[in-house]
Amino acid sequence: MKKELLHIYDRLYRYFGPQHWWPAESEFEVVVGAILTQSVSWKNVETAIQNLKKEGILTIQGIADVDKGRLAELIKSTLYYNQKAEKLKRFCNHLKENYGCNIFKLFNKEMYDLRAELLSIKGIGKETADSIILYAAKKPIFVVDAYTRRIFHRLGYFREDEDYQSMQDFFMGNLPPDVDMFNEYHALIVAEGKDFCTSRKPKCNACPLSDICKYWRK
Ligand code: SF4
Repeated sequence: MKKELLHIYDRLYRYFGPQHWWPAESEFEVVVGAILTQSVSWKNVETAIQNLKKEGILTIQGIADVDKGRLAELIKSTLYYNQKAEKLKRFCNHLKENYGCNIFKLFNKEMYDLRAELLSIKGIGKETADSIILYAAKKPIFVVDAYTRRIFHRLGYFREDEDYQSMQDFFMGNLPPDVDMFNEYHALIVAEGKDFCTSRKPKCNACPLSDICKYWRK
């Protein structure tokens, strides 16, 4: 299995090249992006992040202190902005109260302790927590998402309704714990899901994985 997963990785990497994730100027900006990106395109997240920068509040202290309504206004380009404003404030208040606004004190924790702590913050789900751990804290956890489920279901590895934890266990149980590779692999899966393996009318004819895909061979 390890060989097959590495083979898929190689194929995607050769086709798409390095994806340079996560596009951000700081670890904290990665966290903000990971919270804002749920259910919305990255372009909309960028608009929100630019607004936070212009307002001068793209810091833990800044978001913890800003009025929630104002924060929601600034991130309006992302869907569910009231809920996301709430999540950002909860995360920043947690850091302010427990770590004196020092994100690295939180990130110094052992990976699964860090994960448990992130998941204990209301509104932070597994995908967001794992994105923070991999792309901001730079620890080797594999991030999975709807693209991962769809592609690996069609390739023949997952059920259509495979749950988050079993998908993650599958990758982590079969790949070496390599931060750089996990970073790139997830980004490549997203690229494949956006460009070829779309939910409707996947572009199988041009897909770099077509000859090893169960769905395509049907
Ligand atoms: S061949 Fe089609 S179904 Fe299979 S991974 Fe590629 S786009 Fe998806």
